[in-house]
Amino acid sequence: MTNNQNVQPIFILPEGSQRTTGKSAQRNNIMAAKLVAETVRTTLGPKGMDKMLVDSLGDVVVTNDGVTILEEMGVEHPAAKMIVEIAKTQEDEVGDGTTTAVVFAGELLKNAEELLDKNIHPTVIAKGFRLANKKALDILDDISVKIDIKNSDVLKKIAVTAMTGKGAESAKDLFAGLVVGAVKQLAKANEEFFVRDDIKIEKKVGGKLEDTQIVKGLIIDKERVHSGMPACIEKAKIALVDSALEIKNTEIDAKIQITDPSQMQAFLDQEENMLKQMVEKVAASGATILFCQKGIDDLAQHFLAKKGIYAVRRVKKSDMEALAKATNASIVTNLDNLTAKELGYAGDVAARKVGDEEMTYVEECRNPKSVTILVRGGSEHVIDEVKRAMEDAIGDIVAALQLGKVVAGAGSPEIELGKRLRKYSNSLSGREQLAVLAFANAVEVIPRTLAENGGLDPIDVVTELKSAHDNKRIWAGIDVFSGKVIDAWSKGIIEPLKIKTQAVNSATEVAIMILRIDDVIASTGGGQEPPMPPGGMGGMPPGMM
Ligand code: ADP
Ligand code: MG
Repeated sequence: MTNNQNVQPIFILPEGSQRTTGKSAQRNNIMAAKLVAETVRTTLGPKGMDKMLVDSLGDVVVTNDGVTILEEMGVEHPAAKMIVEIAKTQEDEVGDGTTTAVVFAGELLKNAEELLDKNIHPTVIAKGFRLANKKALDILDDISVKIDIKNSDVLKKIAVTAMTGKGAESAKDLFAGLVVGAVKQLAKANEEFFVRDDIKIEKKVGGKLEDTQIVKGLIIDKERVHSGMPACIEKAKIALVDSALEIKNTEIDAKIQITDPSQMQAFLDQEENMLKQMVEKVAASGATILFCQKGIDDLAQHFLAKKGIYAVRRVKKSDMEALAKATNASIVTNLDNLTAKELGYAGDVAARKVGDEEMTYVEECRNPKSVTILVRGGSEHVIDEVKRAMEDAIGDIVAALQLGKVVAGAGSPEIELGKRLRKYSNSLSGREQLAVLAFANAVEVIPRTLAENGGLDPIDVVTELKSAHDNKRIWAGIDVFSGKVIDAWSKGIIEPLKIKTQAVNSATEVAIMILRIDDVIASTGGGQEPPMPPGGMGGMPPGMM
């Protein structure tokens, strides 16, 4: 190196860039991640509280669901966003356990911070966490119990566990029955080869939660366009059309000069003829039902009714796709292409009154792999939350069947994990041992939080649970209602193994990723934007879609 004096500072970043490095970058990120975990922590478990979220338009969501809360919050900080991501992954992979994953990630980082304070290098912590993660997955697998579709009893318990303490609480036994019924229906049709999306959840405000029902097929939230149409059709041949049965308005202003009344009549006749021909085309294909994604002209409605065709207009695109799948129909854009080959089939299509509105039920579909649960309830907010709880239950059952393995809940697997990981850490030497120990303590945040949210003393509870586990009661968990240690398995608190493995896995990954960041370069300029992680964002200004 030569003389360093009089050297001008060199700028390699654009003006306005923000850079945080070293400890302060690390601490800043960890702090943000912990804050996200803190936010959802109070919702964990059956005695967790709900949150009310109000968006900029004043729309209100009341929920207990981790991922919904985090999505609605619109988190901006880049490290905090990474935590929100794991909730989304958990939602996609399992559909439940989002709060668990986030709370665990927060605790991992909190414990890592203590190790950083002791001058343990982040890469050592990362290595220890990886070892612990791998071991944790083995332990979870080891304590899990095998089940399959025949264990209706266990499946029902899984559903009840998922819905305990949520909006669906008051009718959870009924709902659990419905959900298991829906899953069984699919399984019968397709030998366990089905996904969550095969069960549709429709909602209609009105009635009681107990009016919620299951339909072997689809429910389309639309009525017949004309009361002269038949209200129900058996052995229905179904046409799906995504163009309008209307005469298009001319794009340019055209003037038509009419000099005598007969011309006027001819003009109207011609329009009528065109609509009639459209209806003829539908009828010629042999269709007895028409689902149209666009509009249907009044006159066309009249002709359709005369032909005895049941027609529905302005059907949602997603419904059209579901109908295509369920009835084996193809969606046709040009009526000229509508032939018998394009039609789908359902044994029974009917207009049914739900509350004071009519909905179209499409049952006995050609493809039996479609089941709908129609949720009823006093208000939009109530049925939305019931729908989320039910989706959790469906996700859990499907996840349980996929792996064919379940564990008990109520904090029992986490205490067992903590115990065995601590034992494992003894077999390691050096500083990694400390990281594994930190991991083991972090897992226990779940029973600790369950106790806290239940108004119990977390230290007492965890101590009691630990001693029960030392006495080989691997399913000893906390009954948050009575405050007593219970056998979670015999109490029927059962969850899919995948909830736990997915949560542990993704929480570990994100914790490691955040720990390894020691330099945050934000190139947004302006200075008000939060710093972005390296390589995090493209050139898009925040807020743009
Ligand atoms: P998540 O979003 O993580 O699914 P939940 O609010 O659904 O969060 O809470 C799940 C936790 O509640 C799990 O650890 C589960 O074992 C526990 N839990 C569920 N039912 C009970 C119960 N009856 N008693 C004690 N704990 C329970
Ligand atoms: Mg849950």
